[in-house]
Amino acid sequence: MHLSPTHHHKILLSNKNVQTGSRIGGTPPEAIAENTVCPECKRKIQYVLTLGNDILGEHIGNNELSFFVCKDFDCRWDGQAVIHPSPLIFIVHPVSPRKKDPTDMDSPCDALGFYRGELEPDFVDEESGYCDDSKLGGKPTYIQSRGEEEVEEIQKEGYEFFFQYSQPVFPDEFSGGTDPFGFGVVYVFAKKDAATGLMDCNNIRAFWLK
Ligand SMILES: [Zn+2]
Repeated sequence: MHLSPTHHHKILLSNKNVQTGSRIGGTPPEAIAENTVCPECKRKIQYVLTLGNDILGEHIGNNELSFFVCKDFDCRWDGQAVIHPSPLIFIVHPVSPRKKDPTDMDSPCDALGFYRGELEPDFVDEESGYCDDSKLGGKPTYIQSRGEEEVEEIQKEGYEFFFQYSQPVFPDEFSGGTDPFGFGVVYVFAKKDAATGLMDCNNIRAFWLK
């Protein structure tokens, strides 16, 4: 499944929890060491989500990609520019179930699964002029005009758009907690292998806008 420059798959919230595969909230995967810290400020981090091959397909192969964010407000704020190291932390790990016991890395969101929507053409909301859905592939849709400038440098280095994330609306009986991104959008880029067309999940650059 190569990413399309014009079409995307939505990353959609399920109403059921899952232990492995694409998911949000709850406890982080077993494979993540509990003493993992922010590479930017060395403070504690908070779990956001995991994407598995049910959404990322062969781009992640037999692994999973988990996303964490720095708990420190000022450090997290700095992640609105593309910096490296970044308070937006992406970790590739083997397929791994959720930790059984609560940790201080737990997400404030309830634990639910994600599933991949059908391939559909990119669109923007007519009123807002952007699309702030969580989606894989297509073009990033920046909720602020400075998004284009933020990625100029990394695009020169060969990074391409991979996916974007915004906290989904949770079903009534579940809680989304406090969104660390204030209902903003996280934009994720990776380098594409020229031979295989696959994104290198071990080499990600990301930033967020609100
Ligand atoms: Zn930090």
